[in-house]
Amino acid sequence: MTRTSLTQLEARDAFIARHIGPDTAEQQSMLDTLGYASRAALIDAIVPAHIRNKSALPLGQFFEPKPEQEALAVLKGLAKKNRVLASLIGQGYYGTYTPGVVLRNIFENPAWYTAYTPYQPEISQGRLEAILNFQQAIADLTGMGIANASMLDEGTSAAEAMTLILRVGKSKSKAFYVANDVLPQTLEVVRTRAEPLGIEVKTFDPAELAGVTDAFGVLLQYPGVDGAVRDYRADVEKVKANGTMVVVAADLLALTLLSPPGEWGADVVVGNSQRFGVPLGFGGPHAGYMATRDDYKRSMPGRLVGVTVDQQGNTAYRLALQTREQHIRREKATSNICTAQVLLAVIASMYAVYHGPQGLKNIAQRVHRYTGVLAGYLRTLGYTLTSESFFDTLTIRTDRAEALHAAAVANGINLRKIDAQHVGVSLDETTDRNTLAALWNVFAEGKEAPDFAAVEASVEQAFPESLARTSEYLTHPVFNRYHSETEMLRYLRSLADKDLALDRTMIPLGSCTMKLNATSEMIPVTWPEFSNIHPFAPDDQTVGYREMIGQLEDMLCAVTGYAAVSLQPNAGSQGEYAGLLVIQKYHQSRGEGHRNICLIPSSAHGTNPASASMVNMQVVVTACDENGNVDLADLKAKAEQHSKNLACVMVTYPSTHGVFEEGIKELCDIVHSHGGQVYIDGANMNALVGVAAPGSFGGDVSHLNLHKTFCIPHGGGGPGVGPIGVGAHLAEFLPNQRSTGYARNENGIGAVSAAAFGSASILPISWMYIAMMGGEGLTAATEVAILNANYIARRLAPHYPVLYSGHDGLVAHECILDLRPLTDATGISNEDVAKRLMDFGFHAPTMSFPVPGTLMIEPTESESKAELDRFIDAMIAIRGEIAKVESGEFDKANNPLKFAPHTAEVLTSDNWDRKYSRETAAYPLPSLRKNKYWPTVGRADNVYGDRNLMCGCAPISAYE
Ligand SMILES: *Cc1c(COP(=O)(O)O)cnc(C)c1O
Repeated sequence: MTRTSLTQLEARDAFIARHIGPDTAEQQSMLDTLGYASRAALIDAIVPAHIRNKSALPLGQFFEPKPEQEALAVLKGLAKKNRVLASLIGQGYYGTYTPGVVLRNIFENPAWYTAYTPYQPEISQGRLEAILNFQQAIADLTGMGIANASMLDEGTSAAEAMTLILRVGKSKSKAFYVANDVLPQTLEVVRTRAEPLGIEVKTFDPAELAGVTDAFGVLLQYPGVDGAVRDYRADVEKVKANGTMVVVAADLLALTLLSPPGEWGADVVVGNSQRFGVPLGFGGPHAGYMATRDDYKRSMPGRLVGVTVDQQGNTAYRLALQTREQHIRREKATSNICTAQVLLAVIASMYAVYHGPQGLKNIAQRVHRYTGVLAGYLRTLGYTLTSESFFDTLTIRTDRAEALHAAAVANGINLRKIDAQHVGVSLDETTDRNTLAALWNVFAEGKEAPDFAAVEASVEQAFPESLARTSEYLTHPVFNRYHSETEMLRYLRSLADKDLALDRTMIPLGSCTMKLNATSEMIPVTWPEFSNIHPFAPDDQTVGYREMIGQLEDMLCAVTGYAAVSLQPNAGSQGEYAGLLVIQKYHQSRGEGHRNICLIPSSAHGTNPASASMVNMQVVVTACDENGNVDLADLKAKAEQHSKNLACVMVTYPSTHGVFEEGIKELCDIVHSHGGQVYIDGANMNALVGVAAPGSFGGDVSHLNLHKTFCIPHGGGGPGVGPIGVGAHLAEFLPNQRSTGYARNENGIGAVSAAAFGSASILPISWMYIAMMGGEGLTAATEVAILNANYIARRLAPHYPVLYSGHDGLVAHECILDLRPLTDATGISNEDVAKRLMDFGFHAPTMSFPVPGTLMIEPTESESKAELDRFIDAMIAIRGEIAKVESGEFDKANNPLKFAPHTAEVLTSDNWDRKYSRETAAYPLPSLRKNKYWPTVGRADNVYGDRNLMCGCAPISAYE
């Protein structure tokens, strides 16, 4: 060990102590409650000895924790190895300005970024309204009936659109035609997705669209990747008459000027909202979008926000049509999407709110005009453009492509590399006269620049008048009210105030690991060296990024025991999909491509079966015993029954029931003995880091959720990162993104995301976390997460039965409270308890997963004992209220649980007709008098909302 000075030591340990909530004395007092002498003794009693890893995490140079400032300095050093040029590469990604008021008050504001997915609508009205604005903006701009709450990126959105139309369409064909001017990365993602489903992807020249007669669907790009704006109206009518459905990938900024696909027959419109104020970030995260006709809303993938009423009949927002989703429909779900891109959708929606329809149009017109000026320059210089019809992108025919790229870089600009005869250039919101002057220099070979004003004066609209947009958009008041910064600031604040995020309370969500998202981890995300890099920037400009990514891959290998990691998947669900493809590819490589059975225990997360069906594996559900463990006898029987065709098992460890199952190694052995692979869902990795490694105890593949275990904030439902780790035998199959030059593995699967490194710009968060915690800090975090969960379980056990536990009544990092006996006796449900917790200022635990009628609590290591006690006090007080219902002291229907949560409006009403006091309702514990959160709506009515589906902003008339 190197000698460290005392001051360094203090600084070194400081972050660990800030990340971990309870201090040493508090930990000891909790251990006393549990009857264990030390953390180590507790862990020994919980984690099966045969999987326990007692050696230090092999983190190499990152084993020693770095003080916050030092970690930031090291990362800054890496960031500086990136070179930030003006990237006019286009191809789906464009320069943009995040409005300062949005940057500071959303992107950099924990009230927004630490929020959870809005499953509990009463404490989520602010972000639900922001997402509804997103849906409205997308529906308006695309001219479609309904849009969802975001997709993971444009490529996956197009792939989801393909499977959507396959579900709803009437065509018998299995052919999907992709226009050859579709973004290449989109085509690659679509191909990857199509293959296991037996869909045949064919490319075609969009000029020949009318000749497509044998496809169930076509995918068009509008404008095309080459910049051309094509008029598809007549041809779309023809292909639709043949029963072919039409998906259009469209650019949102262009749609402010161009006739939207919804007006010329598109069935689904997809794309990316990145250029609405979301930094490039080397490829993500950005909110993809999907809009479709009202007829297909029940087949729509992903989350959807809708309008409903609360118990008092007031308007309330909530997630709509959840019955389509993986957590209910499992392998029959419309998609496997769980975590989406909510924070980025919120930013994009606020960009629309901030600029309004006229502001967006002004930006688009300016971009279009500058593009016209550039076209004028190029014509003057004798260059040929491949299309005279364009919005913001030009493709230039040249025999000097190489020289032009070099000249561009010398002028601080990246152009799009196409081939030896063509270069592309896309202008954007950040383009100004200086950019144009630099572009002149690139192309002019020293010739004198013409007079800008004279060229500008001659610029005309460069797309057919027949394609000019005539319909209005963004007419709702929200897009027309907040155009002064003062108004905007207050609007953002008013929304944030409605919500409960980690900046106000613990969010004890089982399986979701809502831990600290430290400010030092967040700071690098908005450094320009990370945020202003185009995903297709030349490699010599992204050296720092790739070094940081390589280090993070190594860190994650060290933590998981796997041989290699891919950071490409944009969420856990995408990691599952990628991991299963890897398994398929492995079997195929051994001539065993027929293996298609995927064993999944009944307790699995809904994404598992949904992902299995995306790769066309057949799901065989295996039973759990009365202790919640995988029923090994049943698993063994089914593995034997399907031995020849067994592809894999998908199992979560520790289990979704919050238990370290003793039989995990045996389970892995059984599956291996039948030639299957073991997929270990790593969502519960927060209970494993430093104490056991899935790659060492039998796993072949795992996804991690960096937005759970590794501190990326949940953002109200995304972004996420779902990397997969694999054993050495599978490393060669990890994903590529060949279309964008990322060819990591010759035998690798195709792209699962549009960008090679997925959501690259948020990877510094996890890098910082690991660098600041070091090996011992990470292990300590796991131990304290387990300690905190057991402390809660032990303290609450006399009041609520803990459903599953292992040896000595101990749980892992989460525990399930069984409300069902109480519900049977009193009619008070887990939902009533969840809603009542809001009156106590808490976000509810996970409801009814993995067991209906229960609550699953995961406190994480970041919560102090004081916060745990506050939560325990609330739960005990609620149990006291249930007891009053039981004894008859409270009415069975008219009690504070059934009417929870209580809004200020209800409590201050002159007609108080409840059979309990207002004080009981509002201040059930004295501590609430000092710090009271007021939900802004009463209990939301889900059934009403789904029957009267409304997924857009209230019309102007509603405000009158
Ligand atoms: C969260 C979770 C997933 C899905 O991950 P996303 O990142 O939300 O897509 C899968 N399995 C389990 C057990 C989870 O908790």
